[in-house]
Amino acid sequence: MARTTFDALIESSGKENRRQQIAFSETNLKKMEYYNKHYQIVTDLYFVANAPVKLCDHKKAMERECRFCGRSKPEVNFRKKAHAVPEFLGNKSLISMNECDICNKFFADEYEDHLAKWFGPMRSLCQMRGKKGAPKYKSDEFTSARGDKGMELFVNSDSSILKEIKESGSGSFKIPVPMYTQPFIPVRAAKAFIKSAISILPQELLSECENTIQWLLGKATVNIDNFPVMYAFTPGVNPYRIGKAMICRRKMPDAEMPFLWLIIATTNFLFQIMIPFCKSDRWIKHGKKNSFEVTKFPTPFPEEYEKKYGKTVWYCEDWASDNPVVQNREASFHVDKIEEINVNKKKNKK
Ligand SMILES: [Zn+2]
Repeated sequence: MARTTFDALIESSGKENRRQQIAFSETNLKKMEYYNKHYQIVTDLYFVANAPVKLCDHKKAMERECRFCGRSKPEVNFRKKAHAVPEFLGNKSLISMNECDICNKFFADEYEDHLAKWFGPMRSLCQMRGKKGAPKYKSDEFTSARGDKGMELFVNSDSSILKEIKESGSGSFKIPVPMYTQPFIPVRAAKAFIKSAISILPQELLSECENTIQWLLGKATVNIDNFPVMYAFTPGVNPYRIGKAMICRRKMPDAEMPFLWLIIATTNFLFQIMIPFCKSDRWIKHGKKNSFEVTKFPTPFPEEYEKKYGKTVWYCEDWASDNPVVQNREASFHVDKIEEINVNKKKNKK
């Protein structure tokens, strides 16, 4: 089977020649074929580059306009550095020149904060690096932080977690611990993703998403009663290396599948989210139940990777709710080493 550009995700390490040697699973090859047939990648951007990547619609300064509210100077300013994709997702390089300061603040306060809270403890455990590095996670049971040799968990010597690890024998351990997110509003977290999609969308596709932009600004009369967010979790240490964002555009004009997909792959996560309210999605009837079959995006890790670290697992959540929720993030740790330390009577497991 011929490989396609849809295997590009695994190449985040930049080792182009590796592509030739990777043995992909049959499932992933089928997915790549599906996407190659039905979709075209119209945006493909890494989160880290040697120099900032400035996404810019205007040719002359006087033509500068906000992609969201449509305003320009002097009505609005463009002084703030607008990350096209939130910085806490690992985006260091993608800067939008098409986002005014007012919209920038609105998105950060109203939406991005909720998305950050959805990740909750995973931001620390998956080492998602924001402005101040990856945050620490603290609970009654343990604290986690990045150490010299990887993730370090600190637990008290009388903790039940430590007892469990010791009882399960020597070598490696998997300890499921309940970890909770802070309360967040799902539809706002969803809007943070869609805002990112609009920021990285090719300019010629903006008119497709006029209604999407109105929805983002809270001006749409339509609401969403189902917002599926699909994501894949791949175990291991930072499997996607340098994260990236992609937009995939449907090739056929009237096929019953989403016109635009947003793909964000960072640390251990790959998100696959359809951009709602696209004009070319005429097959979606608002106010009715729409269902369609989704071929999940390829998560092309070689079979040997899966054997070593574990298989990629897909999840689907409905993020339509406008009410705050708290989620439990079940996590398993692979513990290599336990060490006793006497700092504030804490034990250190590595
Ligand atoms: Zn604006």
